[in-house]
This record gives sequence, C-alpha cells and structure tokens, in this order.
Amino acid sequence: MIYCDAHCHLGSRYFEEDREAMLKRMSESKVAKAIVICCSEHDLMIGKKLTDENPGFKLAMGIHPQDLEEHDFARFKHFKKLVAEYKPDMIGEVGLDYYSHPHTKTYQQEFFRKQLELALEKDLPVDIHSRKAANDTLQILKEYPIRGIIHSYSGSIEMARLYLKQGLYISFGASVLFKGSHKPAEVIKQIPLDRLLIETDAPYQSPIRDHRHEPCDILAIYEAIAKIREMETQELCRIVENNFDRVFER
Ligand SMILES: [Zn+2]
Repeated sequence: MIYCDAHCHLGSRYFEEDREAMLKRMSESKVAKAIVICCSEHDLMIGKKLTDENPGFKLAMGIHPQDLEEHDFARFKHFKKLVAEYKPDMIGEVGLDYYSHPHTKTYQQEFFRKQLELALEKDLPVDIHSRKAANDTLQILKEYPIRGIIHSYSGSIEMARLYLKQGLYISFGASVLFKGSHKPAEVIKQIPLDRLLIETDAPYQSPIRDHRHEPCDILAIYEAIAKIREMETQELCRIVENNFDRVFER
C-alpha cells in the first residue's frame, strides 16, 4: 500500500533547511509517488534531481498565474526552452487566480492558453490552478482537448461535473480536514472514484495555521476521504494510485 501526492512543491525554499529529513519522513510514510510542481528555476533544479532519483516522482513545470505582472513574451520563450531542456512529465501548475491577482486577468488568460498549447504540442498532461475563476477556466479548457488535473478543488459538484466532462481528474487537499467544511465532503461523495486524486500542495495549505505542510501529512487526508466514501484506506490507496498512473498514460 502506497500513497500518492498529486501536487507538492518539493523544491520549495521552505524545505531548504531540512529537505532530506522531509523526504525521509515522506518515504517512511510510504508516500512513494508524487507530482513535483516547479514554478521557478530554483524549484526546477531541485525538482529535476529528485524526479531523476525517484522513479515514483513526476516533474511538472509551469508559469504560475500569481507570478504574472505583465505581458512578457521573452518569459514564455525562456519557459519553452526550459521545457525542451528538462523534458517534464507534465505542464503545471498553470491557470487563473482572480482571488490574489484580479488585476492581471488578461495576462493570466494569455499565459494559460500558451501553456495549454505547449502541453498539446508536447502531448503532456496539465495541472490546473483555478481560484475564483471557474467559469473562465472552464471556457478556456473547452478550447483545448488536454488531459490533466484540477488541483486543490474546492468548488461545487456542478462545476466538478463540467470538469469531469472535459475528461479531467479532480484533486482534493487538506480542505477536507477543516472543521465544519461540509461542502468538500458532499462533493467528494459524488465524484467518480476513477477520477479522484489526493494532494497536500506542501509546503502550502496546511490544515494547521502557520504550519508548513509536508507530503507525509497526506495520510490524514486519505483517511478523511476514505471515511467520507465509507471505504478502507487501503482500497482508496489502490484506486488513487491507479488514477495517478493513468494521468501520465498517453
Ligand atoms: Zn501548488
């Protein structure tokens, strides 16, 4: 029985001090598969090394919507060069964030489209970040027949169904652990099991305030989801691992 973390930033500067210890805790907790999200060259350097060393780790590269301040053609050109050089398994995380950066909507949409086009060209799946932007995300996704994952999903079941219709997987994080959070539970109950993924978004989105999240913490999320689905954690592990592998099948 192994656990899969469908979204974590293992190259993050937040792990600089004790990355080896964090990775040890991760492997001791049997979190053997992970999508290593790299949104900076710093993270990419470390992410590349980790994914080369660990057969269960997949490399994802993307320009995050929060990192865009203006239209920047040179930046995308450079990103394309890095993709050719590092040969990632996935493009991401990419998408739209109108919550933190409502003033850069246009740039965000443009870079989202460009990166989806690149994913299609390279035949790679995409990891999608969407915050307060579900309608625009869906409209853009409808233009591109991509494979991939909606990361850290916290929307309605109706919207989830529309993403599922696009063939996407839906990934849930620690929001299922928050007290009084009925909505994720209601959505999780209705998601087809063969489209369900689980993630930490480590070092971010810890269920404990001001705490650094780690991949080893994913066990609690698995247990919560297994409880919601009224199934054994072991069975959930098997299903999620299957889904994780299928994301990367061509
Ligand atoms: Zn993330």
